[in-house]
Amino acid sequence: MNDINITAYGATDFVGRSSFLINDRDHKILLDCGLELVPKQKSRAPVGVHDVARELDSVLISHAHIDHSGYTPRLSKEGYKGNYYMTQPTKDIVYRLWLDHLKIEGRRHWSESDLDNVFHKIKTHDYNKKFKVADGITAEFINAGHILGAAQILLDWEGQLILYTGDINDRVTPMYDGYELPSEKVDVLITESTNGDRYVPERKKIDVGLRLLAKQITEKGNKMLLPSFAVGRSQEILITLALDNDLDNVPIYVDGMINTMNTITEHYLSDKWVSRGFLENLNDAGLNNPFEKQNIIPVKSISEKTHQARKYLAGSKEGSIIVTTSGMIEGGPIHTYLDLLGANENNVMGFSGYQVAGTTGRKIFDGATNVRLFEDYGKPRDIDLALKIMKFPYSGHSSVDGLKQIMIDSGAKNIFLVHGDKRNQKYIQEYVKDVAKPRLINENTPTRLIGV
Ligand SMILES: [Zn+2]
Ligand SMILES: [Zn+2]
Repeated sequence: MNDINITAYGATDFVGRSSFLINDRDHKILLDCGLELVPKQKSRAPVGVHDVARELDSVLISHAHIDHSGYTPRLSKEGYKGNYYMTQPTKDIVYRLWLDHLKIEGRRHWSESDLDNVFHKIKTHDYNKKFKVADGITAEFINAGHILGAAQILLDWEGQLILYTGDINDRVTPMYDGYELPSEKVDVLITESTNGDRYVPERKKIDVGLRLLAKQITEKGNKMLLPSFAVGRSQEILITLALDNDLDNVPIYVDGMINTMNTITEHYLSDKWVSRGFLENLNDAGLNNPFEKQNIIPVKSISEKTHQARKYLAGSKEGSIIVTTSGMIEGGPIHTYLDLLGANENNVMGFSGYQVAGTTGRKIFDGATNVRLFEDYGKPRDIDLALKIMKFPYSGHSSVDGLKQIMIDSGAKNIFLVHGDKRNQKYIQEYVKDVAKPRLINENTPTRLIGV
């Protein structure tokens, strides 16, 4: 048997530009091809992927998040002519995210024609269906419980089973029941390690707080701002709010790319892609989809002139919730809302996602009351914030006990940690040491997966 190696082009002891080459003497498979988003700077490409692009047999994408998918169109420019495998929801979402990337960063990494070339070569597969990716190698997508269409990738490499988790969540969330496991024990597990020493509470407990606060703030005629990631978290927040009848009379305005992602989500409300529990909850509420609820209102439906619509909302006396991008306040409509509503101490802004160091969101999260807005419009302005800040500890990633569980349940003898910071990885290694000895890998250095 040949040795099978992994080479990471990013996402070793950090989160960003996930891209991993798995190869033996005869085959080369690329898992993910993402960008590293850096606050206030240009995004970074995975280093080294150009050297192998032409030689790849197949490219598989675990899910749509830009840190796993954002550099994929460049592979076409680098001479890769094969197929790109992903789930159908991932295909729908990446198309929008890639177009959005072109708007934000232009053709720095790849162009519209690269995007077109790649898009025509995407082959989609459902969860739990094997497909061939090279001679003697099959792949299978397994539900990751992370965002719509997110998959773990199981490779059957001439009889050796290699499981790459992509991003996984172990918790029951509004749309999923946590990650699933392959039907057989695997030989190798390559797992994300985003959450180490951070306790992830059960969703239901956080949801209760969010709903209660939303009610209290809005019944006094004040506004609750919820900056959210367009893909994943915003749908979860909207579902949590939509399924609370106590909020039926509270308008929930939705701004930014979240509306597009809601529309994509509506196409996948079957037990093939979301949990039965979610579908039952919708049924009990008499809804076909959560976003059709009357109090959920896209801001652009108020006026095509979105700036006027935002001004109107901010100036009105009604209590309301505004769910908008960007999740880390690095641009997007949230800047306008903060400008219009941030000086009022009766309003509240609730953080529902991780705030990366260096982002405007992180500054506010850490207590800053004077921040610079509109940097991406070229007309920056410093403003004082008086609104209250609330923190809701949601996470799209597995808790450390969920990571321990997958190490046990997968049966893997060789385990590797990727996609997390060093401190968390150290913590995880310590936490699981009675059941597993997960190892780290170095960037751009081939590490043997099998044949050790
Ligand atoms: Zn992700
Ligand atoms: Zn990720």
